[in-house]
Amino acid sequence: MKIEIRNLNMIYPNGTHALKDINLEIESGMFGLLGPNGAGKSSLMRILVTLMKPTSGIVLIEGKDIQRYRKEVRSILGYLPQDFRFFTSLRTWEFLDYSASLAGIKNRKERLKEVDRMLDQVGLLEARDRFANRLSGGMKRRLGIAQALIGNPRLIIVDEPTTGLDPDERIRFRNILSTLSQKEDVTIILSTHIVGDISSTCQKMALLNKGEVVFSGRPEELVAEAKGHVFKLCLSTFEYEKAKEEYNIISTLPVETGWEIQFVADTLPDRNAVEIEPNIEHAYVYYMEHKIHADINI
Ligand code: ADP
Repeated sequence: MKIEIRNLNMIYPNGTHALKDINLEIESGMFGLLGPNGAGKSSLMRILVTLMKPTSGIVLIEGKDIQRYRKEVRSILGYLPQDFRFFTSLRTWEFLDYSASLAGIKNRKERLKEVDRMLDQVGLLEARDRFANRLSGGMKRRLGIAQALIGNPRLIIVDEPTTGLDPDERIRFRNILSTLSQKEDVTIILSTHIVGDISSTCQKMALLNKGEVVFSGRPEELVAEAKGHVFKLCLSTFEYEKAKEEYNIISTLPVETGWEIQFVADTLPDRNAVEIEPNIEHAYVYYMEHKIHADINI
């Protein structure tokens, strides 16, 4: 599937220019949209799922304008919104049964089979008969994921899906998406402000900042941008206190003599510092804070 986003602008009635001339091409597989809060990710997602009309610009799916072919788009779509809510009076399986009918599965037997398959996939089979509103936060999130995936949609759009999940659940969720993205002709668009959501799973990605695409490409290409700009340095506790002000520290590890910090900088700032290979997290901070001088508040 090919999604073309062309010259997309979103200006809300209060004047906020949330998306500024966005141009992106998204193909089958997993696409990650990364950016700090307020970057415009949800606005873009809401336009892609046809819940909102852009102020200008166009989105084409397989050459078709999604505003004109809304029904078709919705029939291939599974969507997990950021503020996902559900009907509280339903049991877990009933809720999914309802989602399955919305996804167009008419045969009851087939629907129930699909419900159990999904419950199993997200690890909620044991909670099948519990009321959905009594599930834990993480379980509710998983139910949200299940309703997005039911009926085998070809286009899956998930907005900040790992927010509120504990680390185990986050990994489990990434694995579910990663498996799905390997299916032929399934496209997954995942928006997140958590860098770790991107690294392991996405073939392509874009960085969004203040409504603009500031990078698009493969995660490895972003990582390559940070080469030569990530360092480590061992410090005593006293030096470490000072360094906190001075360096853009990404991680701190206790070592025998004090602390080892990893940080990003434009050039080697201290002759005792040693250059290290960047990872995606380093790259994100380097790109946003040093290349485009954005404030990402990590
Ligand atoms: P993100 O999902 O990356 O956090 P959003 O798309 O939610 O970003 O928001 C982008 C910008 O648009 C923010 O400045 C936000 O305050 C603004 N915004 C979002 N929704 C609305 C709305 N309904 N009306 C006015 N401004 C909005």
